[in-house]
Amino acid sequence: MDKTYIFGHKSPDTDTITSSLVMANLEKELGNDNAVACRLGNLNKETEYVLNYLGIDAPELIESVEDDANVILVDHNSPSESADNIENAKILKVVDHHKIAFETAYPLFVRSEPVGCTETILFKLYKENNVEVSKEIASLMLSAIISDTLLLKSPTTTEDDVKAVKELAEIAELDYEEYGLDMLKAGTDLSDFSIEEILSLDAKQIDFKDVKSIVNQVNTASIEEVLEMKADLEEGMNKIIEDENLDLFMLLITDIVNSNSQVIALGKSAELVEKAYDVKLEDNTVLLEGVVSRKKQVVPIMTENA
Ligand code: MG
Ligand code: MG
Ligand code: MG
Repeated sequence: MDKTYIFGHKSPDTDTITSSLVMANLEKELGNDNAVACRLGNLNKETEYVLNYLGIDAPELIESVEDDANVILVDHNSPSESADNIENAKILKVVDHHKIAFETAYPLFVRSEPVGCTETILFKLYKENNVEVSKEIASLMLSAIISDTLLLKSPTTTEDDVKAVKELAEIAELDYEEYGLDMLKAGTDLSDFSIEEILSLDAKQIDFKDVKSIVNQVNTASIEEVLEMKADLEEGMNKIIEDENLDLFMLLITDIVNSNSQVIALGKSAELVEKAYDVKLEDNTVLLEGVVSRKKQVVPIMTENA
């Protein structure tokens, strides 16, 4: 039988990685022995912390899929964020919490809910299918929900996420607040990364109407520390703007303790940030009070003002 490749988005985050593992396990439990968890890029530090803590191997690294390959998409559905050649693969299922951004010429299983994390949906799917959630699976799910909702503080957090975290923390036997903060902090360690890597760790290509943009988010416990690299970051951003012909590059430096983001905005459409948030960029940067969610507090506002 052909393999079923299960993967999340490029520039993988904790939800993307753990969801591929958790979905592969669900598929196997339901009789699909050919399910393989995959990833489209390197692990970030936060995800590395999670997998090390739990003693779990990372999913298999792939870059592209072959023509007619069976695939299941988790934590994304947009072809631009997916594996190369996704247009020619056969998408069997999608489990995701982002807006629908794809079309197929054939019917498929799609489970999409406006919750804070893919794992919140997968937890429901386990229950619906009467599949046992082991301690290990619960720990993976819990880690992702903490990551995507910044410990339930992001405005993307729903009641379903809160409920899932409480239930999963019991199964996982973890103090989720203590574990969660350690995990988020592990993700803020940028010391091993080059400027280029920092700028691609959690970068998403998003067009605000006609404004071709990249929005990259970096979590930190100290905005000041990241701003020490500002000149180098700007040089790297300008290079990407030129290479990819972008109108805007937004770097969100998100303070996970105080729930704010410092934005660095470059490109000929940088003033869109000023218009959208009613702020003035000084030296290309400004603090966006209370902004932590790219999905809820950046994409809609920037699109509306573009
Ligand atoms: Mg994600
Ligand atoms: Mg997610
Ligand atoms: Mg994210």
